Amino acid sequence: MKTLFLLLIATWLMATEVEIEILGSGGPEIDRRASASYLLWIDKKAKLLIDTGSGSMLRFEQSGAKLEDLEAIALTHLHIDHVVDLPSYIKAGYFTSRSKPLPILGPIGNQHFPTTNELIKTLFGEKGAYRYMSDVLTPQSDSFEIMAESIDAPKVLKRHFESFELSIINVNHGIVPALGFRIDVDGRSIVISGDTSNVHGQLERVTKDADLFIAHHAIPEIHGTYANNLHMTPGIIADIANRSNVKKVLLTHRMKRTIGNEDESLKIIRKEYTGEIIFAEDRMKIKL
Ligand SMILES: [Zn+2]
Repeated sequence: MKTLFLLLIATWLMATEVEIEILGSGGPEIDRRASASYLLWIDKKAKLLIDTGSGSMLRFEQSGAKLEDLEAIALTHLHIDHVVDLPSYIKAGYFTSRSKPLPILGPIGNQHFPTTNELIKTLFGEKGAYRYMSDVLTPQSDSFEIMAESIDAPKVLKRHFESFELSIINVNHGIVPALGFRIDVDGRSIVISGDTSNVHGQLERVTKDADLFIAHHAIPEIHGTYANNLHMTPGIIADIANRSNVKKVLLTHRMKRTIGNEDESLKIIRKEYTGEIIFAEDRMKIKL
C-alpha cells in the first residue's frame, strides 16, 4: 500500500506541467488589452507562440518567456491584430542566444491575402520592408533562420514537434484564409479557434474532448450579417463546446461589442453548455 502511494506521488511529481498563457485577450481595438496571442508552457518553458497581435511581445517579456525555448510560432491568420508584432520578435531574437531555426506556420493566401511565406518575404526578403535583416531567411543568419510554411488543411493536418503535437484545420473567417489549432501534450489538449464563424463546422474536427476550448468571442448573439460571417456567436460557441464535450471554455478576443455583455453571453452559453466558462484577461495562465 505504502509503495503504491509513493508510486502515485512520484508519478504526480514527474507529470509534465502544461499551461497556456493568454498574452493578448483583445481584438484590434484600442483598449487596455493586447491583441490575440497565446503561449504554451511545458514544464515552465515557453514552447509554442500562437499569434503575435499588437502588444503580444510586451506581454511575452512580462511573462518571462525566452525566445530560445520556442519550438515554433503558429499564426491563425494574417490580420493585423494577429501578426503585427512578428518582426519585433525576430529582431529581439537577434539579441538572444538562440541559434536553432524557428518554424513559422500560418495559412495559405488568396487574392486578398498573401501566403505566410509571402508575408515573411514581404517583411524580410531582399526587397522586403526590413531587408536589412534578410539573412534571417538563410542558414547563415547572424541570429537564427526563420522557416516559414504556408499551410492548407482542408482535412486535419498533424505536425509533431519535440514536446507537443499540433493539429491544424482550415476554418472559415469570411474572405480570410484562417486556421484553427489543437495542441496535444502528454494527455492534455487545448483548442484555439482563431477568428472564425465556423459556418462549415470545421472546428469540430479538432475540438472533441478537449480540456480547454479557447473561443474567440468577438460578437454578441445578435449582430450584423457581415460580422456573423467572420465570428462565432455565443450560441455557436456553446453548441461546439457541448457537442464536443470540452471541459472548459475560455472566451477571448474580447471587443467593445461583447465587453459589458458578459451576463448575456453567459446566459446564452449556459443554455447548452454546463462546463466551466472563463473570460480571458491578458497574462491569465491556465494549468491543464
Ligand atoms: Zn482578430
